[in-house]
Amino acid sequence: MAVIIPSGALAWLALRSLHDEQLVLKDRQAQLYQTVADSFTRQALGYISERQREFGAIVEGMLANSSTSDVANQFDERLRKLWNLGSVGFAVSLDGNVLSPNMLGRAEGRRFRVENDKFLCSRETIEVYVPTVKGNVNLKSLDDAEDKSKKSASKISSSETDFRKIVGEDSEGILARFLQNNLNVLMWYRSPREPKMIFGAQLDLAQLRAGLRRLVENVDGSLRDELCVAVIDETGRPVAVSDQRFRTDWKHPFASGEIGEMLPHWEVAVYPLDPAKLRRAASSVKWTLGAFIASLTAAILIGSLLVLFDLRRELKLARQKSDFVSNVSHELKTPLTSIRMFSEMLAEGRVIEVEKQKNYLRIIGSETARLTRLINNILDFARMEKGEKKYNFETCDLSKIAREAIENYRPQLEAHGFRLDLELPSAPVLVQGDCDALAQVILNLLSNAEKYSADRKEIRIELNSTPGSAELGVLDRGLGVPAGSGEKIFEQFYRAHDSLSSGTQGSGLGLTLARQIARAHNGDVTYEPRSGGGSAFTLKLPSS
Ligand code: ADP
Repeated sequence: MAVIIPSGALAWLALRSLHDEQLVLKDRQAQLYQTVADSFTRQALGYISERQREFGAIVEGMLANSSTSDVANQFDERLRKLWNLGSVGFAVSLDGNVLSPNMLGRAEGRRFRVENDKFLCSRETIEVYVPTVKGNVNLKSLDDAEDKSKKSASKISSSETDFRKIVGEDSEGILARFLQNNLNVLMWYRSPREPKMIFGAQLDLAQLRAGLRRLVENVDGSLRDELCVAVIDETGRPVAVSDQRFRTDWKHPFASGEIGEMLPHWEVAVYPLDPAKLRRAASSVKWTLGAFIASLTAAILIGSLLVLFDLRRELKLARQKSDFVSNVSHELKTPLTSIRMFSEMLAEGRVIEVEKQKNYLRIIGSETARLTRLINNILDFARMEKGEKKYNFETCDLSKIAREAIENYRPQLEAHGFRLDLELPSAPVLVQGDCDALAQVILNLLSNAEKYSADRKEIRIELNSTPGSAELGVLDRGLGVPAGSGEKIFEQFYRAHDSLSSGTQGSGLGLTLARQIARAHNGDVTYEPRSGGGSAFTLKLPSS
């Protein structure tokens, strides 16, 4: 829990910051697009003020060469010759006298007079556009851009006023007015030479559009593949586009900036050429980092589980070790008690019958052998644990070793009513090994067959040899090993029949040692249930 809960919390935090990271990515993109939009808006404004300066210079040039009244009377004709951006040139005195264009001249001039005379003479007010307080940047996130209903507030508002008020004390300006829903842009200039005369021009919007188009076509190389810059007019249609092949719903740019009061509701708009690309980039970051976090969390969880399993194994081992200590103490005590009891009886001369004396001495002998076996097992196990167990390899006759071990053990077995059934070949079965260690394996198997037999006290020992291998089987008709414990019985300290239920003492080391010794001889000890009941343990060794 101490590992899993903090790592879960860490994974949650990492996922949250992953989400934030995505938002940051989107916002950064939005900022970049807005910077592009703002920069082009500034360039558009710069382009218009450049035209304004151009216009002022033209007027000054005319005034320098001719008289004011000449210039004023012929201003329309003269201006159009010099400046293709002006579609109509006008001159109006501040006391309300329109001198150009001529009422009797071309149709366009006449129409201009009809539409603008009253306004220019300040006899009527018109709706003009003025900037409102700055600061409402039209910054949209990717999601906002998808939300077509959102529209940011305009920087421009309109108010009613007349021409004289617009001019005021200024020396130049631009004003926009809508006539029959058509935008007219008027540029005006007052020369210091002639403060009472205003020279102006109605701009040719086609020329203006062409100028703006040249501007937006100038998108930086690296951005050209990524975005499209367009100038959108008051009707929402593009008047200048940086990428002619690009098509979109022009009304919903990713970022935009209004050009200003001189072109009301015109904006420089920026569109991603491939809107899905940003989403793809964001989701690829999401998946990569997500997979990384998931694998780290999985690694922590697997690590914790391994630690948990290890801990459980250690706990089990600690429990088995403490069981082992009590089992061994008991196993030591039982033979010692009988040895002491029978030796005291014999020493005190309380047993007169020779037969009984022999029997007691035999018991003392077998209990001593049992003690020796137990202590040998424990010492060997300790040596193996430390890696200090040494084997004296020599050529041994397995048949002879088995016969000797059985003969040593036979009196004890027969005294307890066991019937031994031997099938050992008379010819030697030669193996390379440590003869004492192999005898210990056979004794352990025999002693188990005795311990775990109940009513049917029959033990069969058979030795079979084939070229290259020898197999010694120790078979009994006892309790058998409970299902599922067939391999566990070879683990250290493991006891499938505990002392309480089976009444048999043991250390849980006999089979562990038997298998380790056999494996050190490139062989093995295996268990299988014996058909007809009981157990069959086999010592397999390579023979020479
Ligand atoms: P122990 O000192 O308990 O006999 P062993 O390592 O020799 O330790 O055996 C491990 C366990 O295997 C025993 O506790 C017992 O449950 C089981 N076992 C071993 N030999 C036999 C057998 N011949 N018949 C049934 N069970 C056996």
